Amino acid sequence: MKEKLLTLDGLDGYQFEELIAKIMKKKGMSNIKITKKSRDVGKDIIMEDSEDNLVLVECKHQNFVGRPIIQKLQGAINHEEQRNQNRNVRGIIVTSGNFSKEALEYNEEIGQNIELIDGTKLKEICKELKLVILNGKVQVLINESFKNISKNQSKDLINKNYSKIYWSKEHKPNIKSNFEFIPVCYIKYLVKFDTNTSVGCIDSYSSSGEIAVDGVTGNELNNEVKDFFFSSKIDIEQIKDEYGDKKIPFEFTENDIEERAINSIIEEHTHSIGYTGNNNVSYVKECIPKRRDIDIKKFVPIYLPYWDNNLIIKKMRYNQKFYVKGSNQFYTNDHLLICKICEKEKSEYEDMNVCPDCGRIVCNRHRKIDYFDKETPICTLHAKPFKLWLQNRYFAKIENRNEYKRLWESKNLLERLYEDKIVLTLIVIFIILSIILISS
Ligand SMILES: [Zn+2]
Ligand SMILES: [Zn+2]
Repeated sequence: MKEKLLTLDGLDGYQFEELIAKIMKKKGMSNIKITKKSRDVGKDIIMEDSEDNLVLVECKHQNFVGRPIIQKLQGAINHEEQRNQNRNVRGIIVTSGNFSKEALEYNEEIGQNIELIDGTKLKEICKELKLVILNGKVQVLINESFKNISKNQSKDLINKNYSKIYWSKEHKPNIKSNFEFIPVCYIKYLVKFDTNTSVGCIDSYSSSGEIAVDGVTGNELNNEVKDFFFSSKIDIEQIKDEYGDKKIPFEFTENDIEERAINSIIEEHTHSIGYTGNNNVSYVKECIPKRRDIDIKKFVPIYLPYWDNNLIIKKMRYNQKFYVKGSNQFYTNDHLLICKICEKEKSEYEDMNVCPDCGRIVCNRHRKIDYFDKETPICTLHAKPFKLWLQNRYFAKIENRNEYKRLWESKNLLERLYEDKIVLTLIVIFIILSIILISS
């Protein structure tokens, strides 16, 4: 297996802290808070471990960490222990470099209440967590997708839809089926913040939400697609090795995706509040959440199976694209429902017809039924007309037209009159009008 990378080039101290916070979250820590930059009180991050202990973390993005850093964190631990009498407090120091011999000895002396993580160990932790860090950013490398279907199942689906189209049984289509895994990240979050003015707190805002970000474009996923996948149980499976090349790689790192999500969240939860100032004047204040007001509760990178089926009937091509979640599909593209003549989209396959001459799938307005056999459909481009006096009759087959022509020619005047409904109607109208005129 390829060596996992841990490059931290170009990170400043704060970015290093953010990265460590991310790694800690993946290690199962909760309530992670990065303390304010300005107040260096011997702890950069405060969090809780799975046993509910309070954990103070000091991050040092430097080559060498000496004894004073340990002393300082020990001081912070003592302070926290006094503040929280009933809680255990422990510490961690993380560095991208090494600890001095003196520091290691001192830590031994004070009883190893503080865990020391140097650059090498940090690398091992990342390896265990299957994290690839490149220039301080967490790369998204996952192998999970929603439950997919097989190629045959996909073909069965298109056949099932196609079979509902009128006259489709006469024309077996040629189907090519392919799929890709689309990378996305699903994020669940909480936003909580107060807005203060000179008259005090005017708004206590608290809300939760979810967002899905496309791993290729970085844009928010279409809401319908998001709901299709994430509004009910997430049914996950591992992508088999043989389908590895179907995965479209994430173009964005976890950091970038989170960044984009946070920007959208800020935009979505910004709102205005009206209040009255001490001088009795009304104001409107814009309440904007800050990054630290947003708590990312869930960050799930996952692949969405997306099928691209092509179907050929005679020389006509049709495309169907749909997402798959187990036994459900969400169609984004369905040419079988679009009339090849007027290009209008219908909602039911039952409203469509296949032309046996050209393979066009057309709506009922653009198909004729053979007047002689009363069943064969034909598109309006290929319907074979036969003109009576004023009315046209249409045929799918030339032999049916000839047969009908013979019949027409054998009819007497009255029978022909009865057959040509337009002429018949005109005559009836003429007679009625004449009667009205005469009687008046
Ligand atoms: Zn049409
Ligand atoms: Zn046709």
